[in-house]
Amino acid sequence: MNVSDSERVATRLVSDGFEITANEAAADIILINTCSVREKAEHKLYTRVGQIRKSEKENNFSKKQIVGVLGCVAQLEGETLFAGRNEIDFVLGTTAVGRVSEAIEKVLGGQKNYFDLGMREESYDWSVAENQRHSPFVAFVPIIEGCNKFCTYCIVPFSRGREKSLAASEIIRQVLNLRRQGVREVHLIGQNVNSYRPPTDSGLENFRGATPFSRLLRAVAATGIERIKFNTSFPRDFHPDIVDAICENENLCNWVHLPVQSGSNNVLKAMRRGHTIENYLEKIDKIKSASKKLALTTDIIIGFPNESDKDFQDTLKMADYCKFDSAYIFKYSPRQGTPAFAMTDNVSEAVKTERFLELEKLIRLNQRGIFESYLDKTVEVLAEKVSNKNDSELSGHTTCQKVVNFKGSAEILGKIVKVKITETKTNTLYGEIYI
Ligand code: SAM
Ligand code: SF4
Repeated sequence: MNVSDSERVATRLVSDGFEITANEAAADIILINTCSVREKAEHKLYTRVGQIRKSEKENNFSKKQIVGVLGCVAQLEGETLFAGRNEIDFVLGTTAVGRVSEAIEKVLGGQKNYFDLGMREESYDWSVAENQRHSPFVAFVPIIEGCNKFCTYCIVPFSRGREKSLAASEIIRQVLNLRRQGVREVHLIGQNVNSYRPPTDSGLENFRGATPFSRLLRAVAATGIERIKFNTSFPRDFHPDIVDAICENENLCNWVHLPVQSGSNNVLKAMRRGHTIENYLEKIDKIKSASKKLALTTDIIIGFPNESDKDFQDTLKMADYCKFDSAYIFKYSPRQGTPAFAMTDNVSEAVKTERFLELEKLIRLNQRGIFESYLDKTVEVLAEKVSNKNDSELSGHTTCQKVVNFKGSAEILGKIVKVKITETKTNTLYGEIYI
């Protein structure tokens, strides 16, 4: 979501006459887009701003660079970020980014400590200019912003506000546009895509489904774009009809990211996730028994307050049952302002590390089995970019969201090619183009 926000900010700035540069030293204005989900977000921000100011002095810049802070830390901390340090020039909250040019104009006009934490404009333009996308072939399409779930550990409902769905007709218009521009793969994104509830039926009239989200999936599939992925799903609202929609439509990709957070009902209850482990496993059984082979990934938090050894054993048991294709494991990190902040963070760092490593080992073991099952098989890969490590190799994703590296030249970038898998590593498959 942050990458997508940055793309839209860049789009807006260019259309207002600014020029984007990746050369920090050459910039008149530096924008820092922040995330506050984990770790010491403000600390990181101040360190970054400190580096910018230091380099200004060391290089004797003739004028001070304007520094603007955007995103979740901006929304949560607001004007307190100025705190007399004269280091940050303006602060723009998560729903105020459409007014980035106005903020810059204010600062250029001499206004000090300018901040805007206001609401998103009704006329906000969600589209991204072709040259501001992170990839020419893959595009993020936000379908819902904010979150109403208030899981007790999570800052998102405070930093991104309440859920607001975009009109289906607008989403479809964007996907059709992206398709015309040569985009092969779209990711429908939101904190909880399953909670998608558009203001009207417009754009969904001809599409059936048990929930507005599964109707939207069918509507986006009908645009004919080659690949559709979506992220993130909330287990409580993950309706089995989503799996049916994926199986019915070739272009709905075979990957579900369904964050479980814990395998223990005690912990899930304290996290206020709204699902039990039994509910979760029922959904996993539906996913695993689908007619298309679906890849499954998840997020898990270890060391939530009062997580006992038994709770952790339940998480191991759940992970072994689910056999995730991959998982993001996070150590619980208390976030000020969330309900869990009042609970004692009583699982020691040493125990968190121990549990993290044990869970990671189990997940890696299952993951290895899954990855090795691709050996000698042929997969379809979207050739997205020249590999970071080797410029005679290309890198891309399968429909099931595995990264694949293979020998190939830049001419085939943007094409979907068949690759025969010859080697596997922890998170990557390697192969050769199969003709
Ligand atoms: N909406 C998604 C869901 O409910 O599954 C997740 C969104 S959250 C931005 C991404 C992940 O960050 C979560 O799934 C969770 O595992 C992790 N996370 C959120 N708050 C955390 C915290 N306080 N400490 C550690 N991990 C956290
Ligand atoms: Fe955070 Fe829970 Fe909302 Fe996900 S569903 S963004 S974890 S509050």
